Amino acid sequence: MSSVAQLSSTPVAKPLDVQWIHGSPSSKHNTDPDLQTYWYDENTVILRQNKAIDYEAPFLFLLFGQQRAVLLDTGATAAPDLFPLRRVVDGLIETWLGRNPRNGYGLLVLHTHAHGDHVAGDEQFADRADTVLVEADKDAAWKFFGFSGDADDIRTVDLGGRVLQAFATPGHHAAAVTFYDPWTGILLTGDTVYRGRLYIVDWAAYSHSIDRLIEFSAAHPVTRIRASGRRRWAWRIACRVCRTASLVTAQLLTTIQSSPGEAERAIVSLSAKFSRQPSVMVSTLTGAPQGPGRPRTREWPSRACGSARPVPRRSSAIRRPCRP
Ligand SMILES: [Zn+2]
Repeated sequence: MSSVAQLSSTPVAKPLDVQWIHGSPSSKHNTDPDLQTYWYDENTVILRQNKAIDYEAPFLFLLFGQQRAVLLDTGATAAPDLFPLRRVVDGLIETWLGRNPRNGYGLLVLHTHAHGDHVAGDEQFADRADTVLVEADKDAAWKFFGFSGDADDIRTVDLGGRVLQAFATPGHHAAAVTFYDPWTGILLTGDTVYRGRLYIVDWAAYSHSIDRLIEFSAAHPVTRIRASGRRRWAWRIACRVCRTASLVTAQLLTTIQSSPGEAERAIVSLSAKFSRQPSVMVSTLTGAPQGPGRPRTREWPSRACGSARPVPRRSSAIRRPCRP
């Protein structure tokens, strides 16, 4: 294999040679795997929970270093008989160790944030040997990362030859953390950035987090932004500010769910930062939003699946076949 110790300084975006399972006509008779797994490369696995188990169908990530692996998020279902995350992860680690034999290989379990669809499987790892499980709440997670309270901290998570960078990106959730993996160049944003309706609890914090993502993407070779939300991959970006702003802007346009006035003010504020996307911003700023919970459909990205109509948060995505 290509050793992670031989880390390239400039990661290259690899094609996503996978078709995600987006549901079946009958969830009762669903025969798809409980977790779809995809080896993005020989040291990186993307897992996706079956939508028949939970509509959230989050993506999880298993990244292998020379000394330990990290699992980012644990899915939306606790019960191992319904959602055998531990068994699947153990199998993947066994496969990797079969190719890279060593003793005492560890597992670190971290989270992008503490929402229920990202932490439900934690308990499955509570008694696992050679495992460090870090709770997702802000106190525990930030203590582990070493965030000092300075919002601009960037900390590292060393897997052995593969050192992730982690920084706080609150807004969607107070304990939200974004990870950058220099091995793949993927920026793992959790729910902070994804295509679809996004809930923001702190606009000021979210605005600052987006600033940080833009600045970070401009300074690092980001090959992909990867959300862990149900919607699927955020689309590939060109690693630079303009495209990142476009991504985030498109996201924000679907977020007029709180007070229209508050959303309008936030977008006015953000429009200055995203000045390279004036046409998109103008289309939002003309006329009143359609009201809470009603994103303006005409701004919905053209690559949305199935139709231009936004997906209600609890709708069944089974009826919306998508392609990555
Ligand atoms: Zn969330």
